[in-house]
Amino acid sequence: MIPFSPPHIDEEIINEVSNALRSGWITTGPRTKKFEQEIANYCEIESVLAVNSWTAGAELVLRWWGIGPGDEVIVPAYTYCATANIVVHCGAKPVMVDIGPDFCMNIEQVKSKITPQTKAIIPVDIAGLPCDYIRLQEIITSPEIQAMFLPANAHQEMLGRILILSDAAHSFGAKYLNKATGSLCDITVFSFHAVKNLTTAEGGAIAIHLPSPFDNQAVYKELNILSLHGQTKDALAKTQIGNWEYDVIDAGYKCNMTDILASIGLIEIGRYNSKILPKRKEIFNSYSDAFQSDAMFETPIGQDETRESSYHLYLLRVKYATLEQRNLIIQEIFENRVSVNVHYKPLPLLTAYLNRGYNLTDFPISKQYWETEISLPIYFDLTEEQVQTIIHVVKKSVHKIMGE
Ligand SMILES: *Cc1c(COP(=O)(O)O)cnc(C)c1O
Repeated sequence: MIPFSPPHIDEEIINEVSNALRSGWITTGPRTKKFEQEIANYCEIESVLAVNSWTAGAELVLRWWGIGPGDEVIVPAYTYCATANIVVHCGAKPVMVDIGPDFCMNIEQVKSKITPQTKAIIPVDIAGLPCDYIRLQEIITSPEIQAMFLPANAHQEMLGRILILSDAAHSFGAKYLNKATGSLCDITVFSFHAVKNLTTAEGGAIAIHLPSPFDNQAVYKELNILSLHGQTKDALAKTQIGNWEYDVIDAGYKCNMTDILASIGLIEIGRYNSKILPKRKEIFNSYSDAFQSDAMFETPIGQDETRESSYHLYLLRVKYATLEQRNLIIQEIFENRVSVNVHYKPLPLLTAYLNRGYNLTDFPISKQYWETEISLPIYFDLTEEQVQTIIHVVKKSVHKIMGE
C-alpha cells in the first residue's frame, strides 16, 4: 500500500533529538529560540514565536487581539475545522465565504460579509498556494470599510482596521510576489503537525509582521508571556542564580514549544529549500504533466504570475464526477493499494457547523470542489516509480467509474 503522507525521519533527526534529550534541557530553551530565529530569517521578518500547534497559536493571537462574544471573524467555508474552531472557542462568530477557482477564499466576497462587528479575517493558503494578500489589504483599508471598524481595545485602536491573520498551516515556504509567507500580512501562523511540509511532530509558529506603530518585538514578548500562563519569567530565565521571583500579569494560556520538538524543526528547516521543497515540486509537476492532457481532470495551480505554492497538497479534481462517482473512484483507488484523501469536507457539512445554522448551498464552489476532489500523495519519500503507479491507478480508476 502506498501511504498518503508519512513523515521523513532519518538518522540526522534522531541524532538531534537525542542531543536535545542529553542536553539536560527538554522544554522551551535554546533550541526553541534558535528555531524561532531560523523561521524569522527564512521569512525575512523580525519576530517569530514557536508554539505547540497552529490551533493554539492562532487562538492565542485572537485572544491577544481581544476577540470575544459579539465579534465576527471571516473564514473560508473550505478549510480544515481548526480555522473556524478557534473563533468559536473565543465565543465569536465565524462568518464564512466561498472559495474561488484556486481553492482560496474568494476575496471579492469578503467585502460583502464585512460588518461593524468584523474584527479579523483568516484567509487560508490552501494546499500551499498563497491568497491574494494585496487585494485583501486594499479592501480592508478602503475608506468605507475602515470607517466601519469599531476598535474595542488598545491593540485594535493602534491598528485601526480589521486584522489579517493568515492560516499558513500549508504554506511555509510559499511565495507571493517573491516574498515568503510570514511576511505577507499582519500575523501568520504556521503548523508543524506531522503531515505538514515542515514538521516538529506537533507544533506551530506565529510570524509577527504588524505595521508601525506596532513594535513587533514587543508583541512577541506579549504573546510569549500569554503562551506561558501570563508568567513574566520562563523556566530558563528562572534557572539563573537567585532569579526566582516572578509575577503573573494575566490569566494566560499554555502552548509553548519544547526543545525536543524544536530539534526536529531545526534539521527540517536546514534542508527545506535544498531538499524538501524541490522534491515536492517535482512530484507536483509530474502529476500535472500526467493529468493535464486528459479532459477528465482539472489540475491545481502550483505557480502563476504572482504566486508559487509550497506544494503541500495535490488537489486533483475529476471535473464531471458526481459525489457518488467520486466516492466510488476513491474506493477503487484504495483497492489498487494507493492511499488518497479528500481536502476538505466543507465546514457547513460538519455536524458542529450544521448545528450552528450554516448551509452548504450558500457556498456553491465549495460544494462543487468538494464533490469532485481527490488529494494525491505528495511527500519526501515517494519514489518516481510510486508516482508513476499512482498516476496509472488514478487514471484507470477514474475511467473505469466514469465509463470512458
Ligand atoms: C493542519 C491545519 C491546521 C491545524 O494545525 P495544528 O498544528 O494541527 O493545530 C489549521 N489549518 C489548516 C488549514 C490545517 O491544514
